[in-house]
Amino acid sequence: RKPDLVDRFVQRLGGKPFPVVRAVDRVTLEVGRGEALGLVGESGCGKSTLGRIVSGILPPSSGAVSFDNGARADGRRAHGDRLGIQMVFQDPMSSLNRRKRIVDIIGEAPVYHGLVARKDKADKVAALMREVGLDPSYASRFPHQFSGGQRQRIGIARALAVEPSLLVCDEAVSALDVSVQAQVLNLFMDLRERRGLTYLFISHDLGVVKHLTDRVAVMYLGRIVEIGPTQEIFSRPAHPYTQLLLSEAPRLGRGHKRYRSAASDLPSPLAPPPGCHFHTRCPHAIPACSRSIPLLTAVGPDRKAACHLIEQTRKETP
Ligand code: SF4
Ligand code: MG
Repeated sequence: RKPDLVDRFVQRLGGKPFPVVRAVDRVTLEVGRGEALGLVGESGCGKSTLGRIVSGILPPSSGAVSFDNGARADGRRAHGDRLGIQMVFQDPMSSLNRRKRIVDIIGEAPVYHGLVARKDKADKVAALMREVGLDPSYASRFPHQFSGGQRQRIGIARALAVEPSLLVCDEAVSALDVSVQAQVLNLFMDLRERRGLTYLFISHDLGVVKHLTDRVAVMYLGRIVEIGPTQEIFSRPAHPYTQLLLSEAPRLGRGHKRYRSAASDLPSPLAPPPGCHFHTRCPHAIPACSRSIPLLTAVGPDRKAACHLIEQTRKETP
């Protein structure tokens, strides 16, 4: 974020400007139609910010998001794109309006956007509720009358109501019990097959991502450090950070807050280390690592990683 009018105003009053966090830095990502791309990394690495930029909730300070080939230089989405990308959030209770009945939570947007006639709203909602595994006779109830898993199904039905082609799921199963998690993941997979949906699946839980995605991008302090086919990255991680994530995964609790490295905590995103952001935790760091930023380079077919060691190895073995 660039300093804006508010920052300058606060400065004039003698206060400190708000910290400028570069939550997402030089990221280029492509998701093919019908593909499920995972985005993993520790809490605070910029995954959610990237998800919000993709879904249009947050405009990027620079760069562009293009959807169905319709690029917008300012990163804002064209009107037609707005419905094509929908988001499913972590906490269904806080993302659902608790004063509204389910029929309105799910049915309001398609009626508002003229996708469904008002008189057909109840039928549309009933069909969506059935599709996500909810009993349509509960349509007049309120969110608090449902369990966590059911509320997440309501959130999914609400996202599907405007017939999106891309679903951005931000920790969409992280707040659920393990058994309920599996059910909701199965629903995501069914929907993908039935509707030909494309997913950007954001999660700190590597097991979830492994289960659901074709490709995975690993993020560290605002940058993509490795990207490639999910199976390959899980079996042969190239980047030292991916290796650390995978080696720690079984020992970590399921709670988001407990997701911390044993080696050391994540540096503050306010002042990320220079050069390779990971050099303060990397067991393989060389002097170049704190001086220059490693670029994402090909390490195999359809695989990229950003690490000086990999660049060096390439030079030594032509
Ligand atoms: Fe480690 Fe250096 Fe590679 Fe960064 S660039 S991951 S510090 S070896
Ligand atoms: Mg997040």
